[in-house]
Amino acid sequence: MAKKKAKPKARKPAKAPKAAKKGKEDLLTEVIREVAGQDVLPLVKALKNKKNVSEFKLASAIKQEINTTRNMLYRLYDQHLVTFIRKKDKKKGWYIYYWTFNPKRIKELARNIRKAKIERLKERLEREKSTNFFSCPNKCIRLDFDQATEFEYKCPECGEILQQEDNSGIIADLQKDITKLEKELVVKA
Ligand SMILES: [Zn+2]
Repeated sequence: MAKKKAKPKARKPAKAPKAAKKGKEDLLTEVIREVAGQDVLPLVKALKNKKNVSEFKLASAIKQEINTTRNMLYRLYDQHLVTFIRKKDKKKGWYIYYWTFNPKRIKELARNIRKAKIERLKERLEREKSTNFFSCPNKCIRLDFDQATEFEYKCPECGEILQQEDNSGIIADLQKDITKLEKELVVKA
């Protein structure tokens, strides 16, 4: 993700108090982004710390069409991140849905995401341990044994002779990452 450079134009200096509770904010953002999508973040902001917010109020708060807003709400509902009640509008005769955010669910989802991440890292670690890799001295490419044989140990990009790679550093890094994530799982359980 390319970070935009801060423009010299002085914006609201409202960033400072946010930093204090950064950890928590980031977990929420991370989880929402991963399970429901980046575009839902403003809606979550509008819902947070409130109860039974009408879907029409939400739509106007995030400046979206009601159908777009509902689509976002359903995405959150699929992940059990929101609950709703509905009430009949006596004058108009239709139902209006009122939504409440379920912050407890964030922790559970964060845990699931971490577990999946650990699984992926373990798979990667296994592959690093069980495979001989060959790489180009010019850093064009990295191939496993079969692929390297196929290219007769020559880089398909620049023609240099491929060299067997010492991947002990990668293995050590993966192991470190896995241990760290596993510790986090225990602490935050
Ligand atoms: Zn090369």
